[in-house]
Amino acid sequence: MKVILAKSAGFCMGVRRAVETTLEVIQKEGTGVSTYGPLIHNPQVLNLLEERGVKILRDIPEKESGTVIIRAHGVPPVHKEKLQMTGATVKDATCPHVVKVQVVIKKYLKHGYATVIIGDRNHAEVEGLMGFTGSLGKVVSNREDVQNLQLNVPYIIVSQTTQDATSFEELSSSILERFPGGKVFNTICDATHKRQEEVRSLCNDVDAMVVVGGKNSANTKRLAEIAEGKGCPVYQVETEGELDLDALAKHEFVGVTAGASTPTWMISRVVAILEAMPGKDEGTLKKSGSKLLWLLLATNIYVSLAGGALTYTAEILQNNGPGVSHFLISFLYLFAMHNLNRFTDRKQQKFNDPLRALFYEKYRWPLLIISALSLALALTLVFEHGLKPFLLLTGMSIFGILYSVQVIPKSLIPNIRVRGLKEIPGSKTFLVAVAWAFITALIPAWSDSHTPDMMTLVVLFFILLLVFVRNALFDVFEVQGDRIVGKETLPVCIGEQKTLFFLHIILGALIVLLLLMPFLGLMSEAGFWLLPGILYIIVLIRLYTKGKITQGPKLEFCLESVFFLLAGLAWLAESLHR
Ligand code: SF4
Repeated sequence: MKVILAKSAGFCMGVRRAVETTLEVIQKEGTGVSTYGPLIHNPQVLNLLEERGVKILRDIPEKESGTVIIRAHGVPPVHKEKLQMTGATVKDATCPHVVKVQVVIKKYLKHGYATVIIGDRNHAEVEGLMGFTGSLGKVVSNREDVQNLQLNVPYIIVSQTTQDATSFEELSSSILERFPGGKVFNTICDATHKRQEEVRSLCNDVDAMVVVGGKNSANTKRLAEIAEGKGCPVYQVETEGELDLDALAKHEFVGVTAGASTPTWMISRVVAILEAMPGKDEGTLKKSGSKLLWLLLATNIYVSLAGGALTYTAEILQNNGPGVSHFLISFLYLFAMHNLNRFTDRKQQKFNDPLRALFYEKYRWPLLIISALSLALALTLVFEHGLKPFLLLTGMSIFGILYSVQVIPKSLIPNIRVRGLKEIPGSKTFLVAVAWAFITALIPAWSDSHTPDMMTLVVLFFILLLVFVRNALFDVFEVQGDRIVGKETLPVCIGEQKTLFFLHIILGALIVLLLLMPFLGLMSEAGFWLLPGILYIIVLIRLYTKGKITQGPKLEFCLESVFFLLAGLAWLAESLHR
């Protein structure tokens, strides 16, 4: 099935800010974190926050400790004051767009103006805004409300930030007709407006729309209403489990959009299921091709082949004759370790790649047995090349297996956060790069009575940086799922923008290495030829940041393919040099 994902789908700025504020407080304080009312309108995110110890206060208690977070929709000012009087630290995560509306209302109230809010009277944001209107606030949701409206003082009209633009215009014109002279403030936020416009235009290109988001989310409902209004069949779901696959199978092109409080990982789950559905007119060859690709990625065969290809490149860069055995050792070792690691990352995987998580659950034992056999075979093969590479690979394997083990038991030292290597922030990103550099550059150079030299170290460093970029990019793609389960990757710790900036610096360093090292005789001339591979990664990052390619199998395939591209370029350089 062909799926078009709306560019703006996913957390809006206000929701992202509220969720990140809460996660930061959890990280700092660990316990005693609560939100006043549900933080956002998405039950799945709320459940995850609850799992991490966040409780929801439905009423204001007399006494409270810890930190209370005010949700993105805002609250009446009197509620904030009461919360502060409970003794808790109050952190206000009201969206800045909502704050702007509150400020407008306050300003005009001072001059005796009444406020008409166009929106849903039971929505948390409207309830909060009403708290700023003194006793001069009115809510209008439909034409009937306009007819019943009574105004006898000057007034302003504002909008709930997630209101539909067309309905706001209609209702505000009707109010002005009845009570001329009111000042109109269109306070619909950009994020909402953009999403709505996108749905309107997407409906022209697709056969049906899937709208993902909380059932109680006003902006999600509105997106569905807009699509319906355009005559597009709409499937509104909270999770991928609610997709009506039989009904959806009738369509060839399906658009996917999501409410402002729907996390990326939830949208990806829906998109992954839809993309895996065979299209009505899709040829058998294409269907089998997509299935095969997915299987190669899910079983880690593709990434392991990529590791084999990188071994080939590393040997050419060191002027060593590439060997099939070295390729196989890398392939088998990486296959084993990547599969074993997937089992320890199951919780986070459930968010970032649910289809793959299901696949691991189903084929758990065969995959574990094949991985163990692969590791044994890699060790046997490397033993034939000498004791030193054998010992190194054995050490790496033990280290890899123990990586996820908590070595400091809670009973021994109860109050520390880091109990094992895996819990050191960003450790996986770096250690996986080290393992790749060792297996692809060091072990082949150490085999067959060769001794690693300066050239080996330079190539090892090059690969370390390259694979680090690969790993950190995957962390960027999966940042929301990681953040919500509390996995501290580089982008979770320093933010996506800073991580991408840092990665561009590393990519710059890689370009310098490829240009400089062959001149210094510390890398073969094939180094120059690898430059397009680095440019390929830069283009991929650009496409991702521009929203042209989104998290999922396609992006994973494109990123892993860089190693095949590099191997191809190295082969070309080698062939022309011969
Ligand atoms: S939809 Fe707009 S107003 Fe509401 S939280 Fe998001 S950015 Fe803020």
